[in-house]
Amino acid sequence: MTEPGQVLTDLLAAHTYLPQFMRCSCGDDLWDHPKGGHPAHVALVVEQHTQGQTARVVELEAAATRVRALHTRDGGYCKACDRRCPCPTIAALGTL
Ligand SMILES: [Zn+2]
Ligand SMILES: [Zn+2]
Repeated sequence: MTEPGQVLTDLLAAHTYLPQFMRCSCGDDLWDHPKGGHPAHVALVVEQHTQGQTARVVELEAAATRVRALHTRDGGYCKACDRRCPCPTIAALGTL
């Protein structure tokens, strides 16, 4: 798994200001940003990235909750996989 900090570093590396072209290395034309320029563009990119990460976490949590609901305890054994409770699936997901 990639470190979250590394993802951000890669993200910023993909948005390098190219003064000779007045544009970002991602291809975005910065003529349209007379006030903010490149810093404003990068701030927006980072914000969108963060929102994407948050949405992804919410999505994964929902998926984990659905799986946890299936692997419920039934007299010391898991209903879904018949392993001793906590079964490997629950152990891997962790309890809330
Ligand atoms: Zn860019
Ligand atoms: Zn199970």
